[in-house]
Parts: sequence; structure tokens; C-alpha cells
Amino acid sequence: MTTERKLGFDTLQIHAGTAPDTATGARQVPIYQTTAYVFRDSEHAAKLFNLQEVGYIYSRLTNPTVSALANRICALEGGAGAICCSSGHAAQIMALFPLMGPGKNVVASTRLYGGTITQFSQTIKRFGWSATFVDFDDLDAVKSAIDDNTRAVFCESIANPGGYITDLDAISKISDAAQIPLIVDNTSATPYLCNPIAHGATLVVHSTTKYLTGNGTVTGGCVVDSGKFDWAKSGKFPSLSEPEPAYHGLVFYPTLGAMAFTFHSIAIGLRDLGMTMNPQGAHYTLMGIETLSLRMERHVENAIKVAEWLEKDPRVEYVTYAGLKSSPYFKRVAKICPKGAGALFTFALKSGYDGCVKLVDNVKLFSHVANLGDTRSLIIHSASTTHRQLSPEQLKAAGASPNVVRLSIGIEDVSDIIADLDEAIG
Ligand SMILES: *Cc1c(COP(=O)(O)O)cnc(C)c1O
Repeated sequence: MTTERKLGFDTLQIHAGTAPDTATGARQVPIYQTTAYVFRDSEHAAKLFNLQEVGYIYSRLTNPTVSALANRICALEGGAGAICCSSGHAAQIMALFPLMGPGKNVVASTRLYGGTITQFSQTIKRFGWSATFVDFDDLDAVKSAIDDNTRAVFCESIANPGGYITDLDAISKISDAAQIPLIVDNTSATPYLCNPIAHGATLVVHSTTKYLTGNGTVTGGCVVDSGKFDWAKSGKFPSLSEPEPAYHGLVFYPTLGAMAFTFHSIAIGLRDLGMTMNPQGAHYTLMGIETLSLRMERHVENAIKVAEWLEKDPRVEYVTYAGLKSSPYFKRVAKICPKGAGALFTFALKSGYDGCVKLVDNVKLFSHVANLGDTRSLIIHSASTTHRQLSPEQLKAAGASPNVVRLSIGIEDVSDIIADLDEAIG
């Protein structure tokens, strides 16, 4: 009798979801650059459309290269199923879509990527959805924000831009008690540093644009379902637990069990919203993920050194990195992301808004860009760019005050990273 060995993270990031190509033996995952797939016969076609057999129909729904990536991220997150889509923002809509409806709301953390705050506070209103923002460090506030129309609780594991760490165990206790799914954006942490499902998350979303791809080449997103949520129990998720007219009356849950959410996302979400990832994009991300753990180790190692250097510098007012012993979030590192607090944080300059503008204009090694999670060190002045749509109160809550810049520490020589900041701060 052989017992199945559980493969380690470093092995899974290279092998999960990708056996040698059955048609050619190709060792790397081929880029299946095709729109459609030939049905064996009409019976085969009927079975595929009835979801009685799993297979490929049309690349807006599924594509072998894209599926390989979804399966690999699913394995790294410890989920039951996953879908990839065109961007991180698309993934957020795809995660909410099966749950929400007109008049329903999501309870979201105030500490989120600026684009997500805009998506949730403005754009989703056009669907009749709304978001209630609360401080996720205030557990009573989270509890009381959940009402009869709440269909999801949403936060980031390591929050952009401040690098603050959310107490996922405490938040999932609250969402579990309310029988509401917890959605965790794990973009800044990656599954190497944090496994939200192990801390009670129902769904994990990613902008694969960032660390998973790791080299700033393509945009993409992913939704991983833990497969653990009972979609029927509360009666609050009819699109999953009642006959769905958009798929000839199929009851996704419990009919499709732990894969119900994932099949719903393909059969209705991707089919009708069309936020599909393309196979070329999936290829770049598959390449990137192979070295995820190695890169994250170096990202974290460099981030700690840069944060410690900044903290000691008299020109600096404060540094938000949760990996610093002085951070109020330091205690959560060991619990939520024991391999490190990521490589994304902010710091404030005593020289204010003007000092920040001078800094981003003077850096040579750092790139002044609206991105994070690249091998390259990146810098941005959030208040004048990614977070400029936000009100002064939202800016403060999101940790993006006018005298604050955000760093995404790369994997270059750390002495070069520090020298560049030292010179550019002036
Ligand atoms: C970038 C980012 C997003 C949005 O992802 P895109 O791929 O740019 O659409 C969402 N959440 C976080 C934490 C991000 O950093």
C-alpha cells in the first residue's frame, strides 16, 4: 500500500496543475492558442454543455493553459477549485458575482488597495450592490456592520499600501458566526507567505499581475474557492443553491459539491461577464510562479533591511512595515504570515508632500510606477496617484497621507536599494 505524500510548496509551485502534455509530451505547458475545441460527436458536445463531462468548449469559458494556472494557484492556496480572469479587479467582481444581487452589500476593510476602494464605493453601485467600509481592527465594528443584506466580508491579508496585517482568524470567526463568506485578497502576501483558507477564508482572490507573475509583464486575476462553505444553509445565496435560470435551472449547490462555486464562475460568470484570462497571459504567470518562494524570501529579506534602515534615518517620520518590531502589527506576523510580512510598506517623510515628490523624481534604481510585486524595486506617491480619487478621510484610513510614499521592495542587491533611497531623499 502506498500512502500519498503531500508535496511541499516549492514542488507544487513548479509541478501542480501541469503534467506533461498528453498530445506531444511537451514538458512545459503549451500555450494553447485556440478559441474553440472540436467535439468528438454530438453526444460529447451535449454532455459538455450539460456539465456532465468536464472538457473544453470555447476559450471564454476554459482553456488548457489558463486551467493549468488556475489549478496551480488552487494547489498553492489549498483550495477546492479556481478560475483565472483578466485582472485582479475582474477577480473581485467574479468573486462577488455569485453571491450578490441588487440591494445586497459587502462589508469591507478600510485598508484596501485604492482601486478596490473605488471599485467598491463607486462602480459596484451600478449593479445595485454596495459596500460598508469599517476598520477591521475593530472587531465589534465588523460585527455590527453585517446586516441581513450582507453577502460577503472582504479584506486583504497584508493590506496595500501600508503592509498592515489583518487578523484573519478573528475576522473569519465573525463571518462564520454570521454564515457569510469571507473573501481575502491575498495579492500582497502570496500563498507563500499566507494561506487565508487555513485561517478561515471562504474565497481567496489574487491580482496575479503582481508577485505571482513577478516580473511586471501581464495583468491577471484568480479566484480560489475553499470548497468549504455551505451555500444552501442560510438561503442567502439563491444563485448557487436554487434552480439558476441562467443555466437552464441547474442547482449548482449541493449538486456540484465543493466545485459548485467554481463551476458557477465558469458556466455563468465567465460565460456572461467575459472577464477571461488569455493563454499568453497565463503562460507568463506560469513561468513566474515557478520561482515564487525564492523571490518572496528575497523580497522579505530586503524589505526588512530597507525598513530598518529607514526607521533609523532622521529624515523619516515613520515606517509602516509590519516586520519591524516597533509595528503594532508585528505580533500578527508569526500568526498570519510566519514566513514574513511581505515587501510592501509605506514611510512618511518629515519634508512632507514636496519631499515625497522630490524623492519619486530623483530615484534612479527605483521605478516610479503604479504597480507592485515586481522583481524591480518600485516607488509611488499614493496620494497623488493610485489613491487620488479618495477623500482626505479615506486617504488617512488607507494609510496614504500626503507625506507618505509606498515602496515595493525588489530583489536587487539591498545595498543598491538603500543607496538609491539615501541619495534621492536628499
Ligand atoms: C493591483 C491590486 C489589485 C487589482 O489588480 P489588477 O490586476 O491591477 O486589476 C487588487 N488588489 C490588490 C491588493 C492589488 O495590489
